[in-house]
Amino acid sequence: MLSLFGAGIGRGIAIGKAYVLRNSDIEIPQFQIESNEVRGEIERLNNAIKATQQSYQELVRNLPKSAPKESAAFIEAHTLMLRDPVLVNETKKIIRAERINAEHALQTQANNLIQVFDAMEDAYLRAKQEDVQHVTNRVLRKLLGIVSHNLDQFNHEDLKGRVIIAKDLSPAETLFIKDRKVASFVTDLGSQISHTAVAARSLKLPAVVGLHGSTKYIQEDDLLIVDGMRGIIIVNPDALVLKEFKALQNRIRKREKQLFNLTRKTSKTLDGERIHLMANVETAQELKEVKRVNAGGIGLYRTEYLFMNRAQAPSEQEQFKAYKRMVTAIDKPVVIRTLDIGGDKQLTFGYPDKLSSESPLGLRAVRLCLNHVDLFKPQLRAILRASAFGKVSLMIPMVSNMDEVNQVVSLIKQTKSELKQEGIAFDSRIKIGAMIEVPAAAIMADLFAKKFDFLSIGTNDLIQYTLAIDRVDDAVNYLYDPIHPAVLQMIRQTIGACRRAGIPVSLCGEMAGNVRYTRLLLGLGLRHFSMDATYILDVKEHILGTDTQKLNYWVGKISRAETPSAARDYLTQLNKS
Ligand code: PEP
Ligand code: MG
Repeated sequence: MLSLFGAGIGRGIAIGKAYVLRNSDIEIPQFQIESNEVRGEIERLNNAIKATQQSYQELVRNLPKSAPKESAAFIEAHTLMLRDPVLVNETKKIIRAERINAEHALQTQANNLIQVFDAMEDAYLRAKQEDVQHVTNRVLRKLLGIVSHNLDQFNHEDLKGRVIIAKDLSPAETLFIKDRKVASFVTDLGSQISHTAVAARSLKLPAVVGLHGSTKYIQEDDLLIVDGMRGIIIVNPDALVLKEFKALQNRIRKREKQLFNLTRKTSKTLDGERIHLMANVETAQELKEVKRVNAGGIGLYRTEYLFMNRAQAPSEQEQFKAYKRMVTAIDKPVVIRTLDIGGDKQLTFGYPDKLSSESPLGLRAVRLCLNHVDLFKPQLRAILRASAFGKVSLMIPMVSNMDEVNQVVSLIKQTKSELKQEGIAFDSRIKIGAMIEVPAAAIMADLFAKKFDFLSIGTNDLIQYTLAIDRVDDAVNYLYDPIHPAVLQMIRQTIGACRRAGIPVSLCGEMAGNVRYTRLLLGLGLRHFSMDATYILDVKEHILGTDTQKLNYWVGKISRAETPSAARDYLTQLNKS
């Protein structure tokens, strides 16, 4: 028995036999060519690129219906790389200058690019090197006539219930293995923010990435336990461990079934307070879970996922279709948040350099949108158009001052009047809200509450900005504290401001879906929660067992705690009470 550790993706545990893919291990021949062979070699490269482009097109055509909408965009980004002169022309130059074979020249240039990406500080750009190798491998396989290692050629039975072990997997391959009902996957490379991880998460596939040496330590048919929550792989577990994990898996399944009984139950506390539970979504793929748990609607639709991993911004029409699909599929209120790009969420298409700073304090979210109205306006039009098809609200992320707010409001007004003039339908009374995630906005919540129809507290960022800790920096992760009294004071203050202004307020950060904080948030006066749909029933269960009249004592103690450990102790007492 052997335990390996990497970065976990998704919730849940998978148990299955290993299916080791060796498709990344391509032997690359290296030989000199004569000057009269240069043309032929370049021709061979061109043909291989053309064939690879065709295979990508085929991949898009055969995408399963269940594949997320972004899948085609992932593949499109790879296709574009095949036309990139930095990869193609430079490879040809190497063939000419060094008189070497196409395979070797291509890998040499790919290595050059990989080195450039590898040196980048930004984790997202660094992850781009994986894309370069994926595309290069595909062309190399065509050059070398290797046809047997594409996942799309495997039949369903081969992969069903298996744990795929690979040096790396592309997002497209991830979609294919999901469609073939694999249990999980483990890769040597990749990070939790890679495209593959994004795809896996939205497909609800537990996995572990960045487990260096997986292909070295895991053999075909080894029995594996993959714990996606903790990032642990157990290879050939002994009988006792296997029994324990199977029992754990059963407990998770049983609990899910039990919780399912709560779907039709009204979300109400013991003392009769109605609590609204909405879902956070990134893609339409998640709608199934939203419906399964009978969420009260979508409290946060993170539209930026529609803009990522692609060569161009989605057009107004494409956005309209995506938003309309979300709105009509659910037939419940949907809060569409405008583009929140910047910081750790970067665009990949060719916008002006430094469009979005990687600093969380930089040109992010509404700041970026107001600086690039050409990006913002089509989105506003698309959201307004979608509002004709259901109960849509529009939400602005990261507002920090009133000038910003006024600019957004007047832009929305202007967009509405343009649509009216063009005779295009929209909900003229669409509710406009803002996220409270900058401390300045929380402190001035009374002012913001007067200006908007609703507010939503984004604790992920509010905590990062209040406590001055970068939410993606491992080194200061231990300081990320949702129950820091300063944070709680801002939440309380925002809720109070909304009560005074007579508008609803929700909380849509990760905190909303963590049952440890359910009672605390209820005690602070929160009545609208929005979270990943998979947590809704857990939270509902806690709500059903809580009497809001009995929370004051411990919530007061936590809010005044002098140290984090004291706050944690009081929280434990609150949850036991
Ligand atoms: C938040 O900051 O709490 C939030 C919900 O927004 P995001 O996680 O998308 O930044
Ligand atoms: Mg945020």
